[in-house]
Amino acid sequence: MLVQIQLPPQVEYALKKLQDAGFSAYIVGGCVRDALRGETPHDWDMTTSALPQQTKACFADEPVIETGLQHGTVTVLRDHMPLEITTYRIDGAYTDNRRPDSVTFTRNLRDDLSRRDFTVNAMAYHPSEGIIDLFGGQQDLQNKRIACVGTPSERFSEDGLRILRALRFSSVLDFTIAPETAAAIHAQKDLLLGISAERIFAELTKLLCGVDAERILREYADVLFTILPDLQPMYGFDQQNPHHCYDVYEHTLHAVSAIPPEPILRYAALLHDSGKPAVFTKDERGGHFYAHAEISTEIARNSLHRLKSDRKTLDTVCRLVQHHDMVFPTPVSEKRLKRLVSKLGFEDTKSLLLLHRADVSAQAECHRAERVAQSDELLAMLDALAAADECLTLKKLAISGNDLIALGIPKGKEIGNTLNALLEQVIDGRLPNEKCALLAAAKAQFC
Ligand code: ATP
Ligand code: MG
Repeated sequence: MLVQIQLPPQVEYALKKLQDAGFSAYIVGGCVRDALRGETPHDWDMTTSALPQQTKACFADEPVIETGLQHGTVTVLRDHMPLEITTYRIDGAYTDNRRPDSVTFTRNLRDDLSRRDFTVNAMAYHPSEGIIDLFGGQQDLQNKRIACVGTPSERFSEDGLRILRALRFSSVLDFTIAPETAAAIHAQKDLLLGISAERIFAELTKLLCGVDAERILREYADVLFTILPDLQPMYGFDQQNPHHCYDVYEHTLHAVSAIPPEPILRYAALLHDSGKPAVFTKDERGGHFYAHAEISTEIARNSLHRLKSDRKTLDTVCRLVQHHDMVFPTPVSEKRLKRLVSKLGFEDTKSLLLLHRADVSAQAECHRAERVAQSDELLAMLDALAAADECLTLKKLAISGNDLIALGIPKGKEIGNTLNALLEQVIDGRLPNEKCALLAAAKAQFC
């Protein structure tokens, strides 16, 4: 019996439209893999014998975007669903390490499937033909295994990014990597040095957010250090401190897996202690890492800059790493938490608490449970503060800079300082957040 994949009507429509015009067409790649795993694919890519202009002509009634005509891809928009339709092709060399220099269109589905990276990504499907699986993709799906299509060393030489893609799929899907593919990854990791930062950043981000990031970063630490050499000193670095049961790199891996799988949080966990080896000192009490957050922030900035990270990720990760070592006294203080929110905002405060939680959960057992419990208490307190909708940030203060200017306070730094001083008094409960009271206080204290 043929395996059947439930297709959205838009995809069925597009397959039929191409077929009626005399072309063959299949869904292919990630969507076949994910549908066979029982997941709902997030997009539906199609491959066809039609040349791009022929595909365009088939969909004359639909909006068509020329996504990458020279690579054979057009995107058809059908009932709000974008469908990427690519002509069967064979890729040429990747000399600029971004995309193939040239592609050759072919009439043959086998050629198209054999250019694809891994067996589980190289299957096609059509409702009347079932799964087209020429390289054992279904078997590898069943065995939860990433294996190259063809000879791994050759496939990695064609495009070094595939090394990182193998790690990414292994991390995200919780699949092992086949021995020959794994051996070629270690042997050829330097090919990543020639790959564009943007491509690396995209794959590394997905890898870090995978369910199995910890295992991959442990087994393929050499690959990570090829991309981010500043992280290498963490490897095996003994902390010589009773608060720690792991070396710096192992601690980092535990922190990465303990934090929710969002890019900013995972990068912050990966980088938070990167400065430790550089500041290590030792006395009779053990090893110390005074001011390591500063160096870690610098390494985080350099690393993310090197990867051409987007601005928001870079800035937020650096802010979190810079503050990650903040000490929260016991019992937890609401006032202190409110001040933190006024400085960092709700979003970053929550991220910082999550980083703190992941950090302490990766420390020695002696204080672990109590410190994790304290983090949980702070996180619950933060949720309650957010729900209470109190005035904790300048945005919520009942007066603005213009009100102070009207009072005669000179424009410039003075305004910001005054607003912050007033906010602090509101947060501490010494002033109500009311315009009259705030103006009176400003007049009395600052004019
Ligand atoms: P997802 O979109 O869920 O991350 P995907 O498998 O769809 O996973 P994409 O990066 O969108 O991954 O690529 C689509 C398909 O194109 C892959 O399944 C694979 O068949 C092929 N592919 C992508 N990049 C490469 C590459 N560098 N070398 C060979 N084949 C590739
Ligand atoms: Mg995809």
